[in-house]
Amino acid sequence: MADAFALLPKTREFLDRPSTMLIGEQWSAGEQGQTMALLNPATGNHLIDVPRGTQHDVDRAVQQARHAFDQSSWSTTRPRERQNLLLKLADLLERDADVLAELECLNNGKSVQMARAVDIQLCIDFFRYMAGWATKIHGTVVSPSLPLMPDDQFHGYIAREPVGVVGAIVAWNFPLLLACWKVGPALATGCTVVLKPADETPLTALKLAELALEAGYPPGVLNVITGIGAEVGAALAAHPDIDKLTFTGSTAVGKLIGKAAMDSMTRVTLELGGKSPTIVLDDMDPVEAAIGAANAIFFNQGQVCSAGSRLYVQRKQYDRVMAEISNIANNMKLGNGLDSSVDMGPLISAKQQARVSGYIDMGRELGADIACGGTAEGPGFFVRPTLITGLDQASPLVQEEIFGPVLVAQPFDDIEDAVRMANDNPYGLGASIWSNNLKQVHRMIPRIKAGSVWVNCHTALDPTLPFGGHKMSGVGREMGEAAIEYYTERKSVLIRI
Ligand code: NAD
Repeated sequence: MADAFALLPKTREFLDRPSTMLIGEQWSAGEQGQTMALLNPATGNHLIDVPRGTQHDVDRAVQQARHAFDQSSWSTTRPRERQNLLLKLADLLERDADVLAELECLNNGKSVQMARAVDIQLCIDFFRYMAGWATKIHGTVVSPSLPLMPDDQFHGYIAREPVGVVGAIVAWNFPLLLACWKVGPALATGCTVVLKPADETPLTALKLAELALEAGYPPGVLNVITGIGAEVGAALAAHPDIDKLTFTGSTAVGKLIGKAAMDSMTRVTLELGGKSPTIVLDDMDPVEAAIGAANAIFFNQGQVCSAGSRLYVQRKQYDRVMAEISNIANNMKLGNGLDSSVDMGPLISAKQQARVSGYIDMGRELGADIACGGTAEGPGFFVRPTLITGLDQASPLVQEEIFGPVLVAQPFDDIEDAVRMANDNPYGLGASIWSNNLKQVHRMIPRIKAGSVWVNCHTALDPTLPFGGHKMSGVGREMGEAAIEYYTERKSVLIRI
């Protein structure tokens, strides 16, 4: 459990009662009453048991979501009401923000402060932003010509309608935030949702469902099914009564979801993996660049889809930037996220710790220099922040997503090299350029194949800016006006008058 740290009474109360999933208005232990154990990544100890849902539970949840969309009045609810409900839900998230942050810490390992300041705050801000969109979704009036019917007059317009029942499947690295990026636009547009949180991190999704009922959402508008990806996730992805699938996770599973969606022509958006470059030009202050590059990779233990996991530094500053990053990494204190003095928490699981350690070992075998870190620590699933140099561009450590606190750095000589190396990777989620040479930076931005380019910052997210990937990083966008696009269908209407 929470071990030596005191928890808020509401967090304690949430953990002490039997965990159930939300199907319609019913809190359910699942058809078979089976459970699965969650561990606290900071200790490796048992945290709580949650229901292990089944195909039957998914069927019931989709049925409830379908009923709420078609038979109840949710899909035709007035925009003002959808706006007010989302604002209410944001207020409730804010009220319980500290509890949500503690649950995220216990379940995922990230620090309470980070969870409160980043994950939960972004959820609150995003719901408020999406609440604004609810009243601003509108179609277009067009002037049709129809030359074959010269004697008639026409009124043409394009209406925007909610896409329908949404199946949402998310990863464990930002459990509530990833869920809110899907639930927010769905609720703003009048869709209903069946949400499948990651196997490892369902707690804040269950709390969100509780708050949605408290806010006054009609039963069935938001359903949450916990369980195993290959069981309930796959059942949701293949369900014939889902109108849109939205997935955040690995590229390997994303491909399965995409194929399942194509079989039934279900709308689909995929937010997948990344191997994002951080590019430092030689005009940049090396200390500022090192702090930026270290944050870009070590934030959230490197478990960030857009983490700056490849670092390219122009030759003049290379040695100094490496030394500064090693210094930052060596001084980072690892520990339980409930301890406010800690800089870095554990990875999500023993499996992830072994995966990340495996890549570090591979680097050693390939003759790389482990400039700092390179070790796993326990109890709990810790890996020390690691900087690896001396590998070339073709190395698996440069090409593949490691998803941990491991930075692989290379020097470059001119801008052409930097752009070529930044793009020489299967992924295309984000990239950052560190320079005050605006002319140079503006020339580079259009050449970088990534959904987001940050200048003198990295993974700086805002509700107004769409987020998503090029290449193997996915299909579609979340956040911004773009999100609304993916939760609505266009209907063309032509009236002969
Ligand atoms: P994952 O693909 O293993 O799991 C993601 C989700 O899919 C989980 O809910 C899981 O239960 C479910 N799932 C697993 N197998 C399934 C199946 N056969 N059918 C249906 N659902 C299934 O990914 P992960 O390990 O949880 O997360 C890490 C990955 O997520 C990384 O690759 C990371 O880059 C990516 N990610 C991307 C973004 C983004 O916005 N692009 C954000 C966060 C994480």
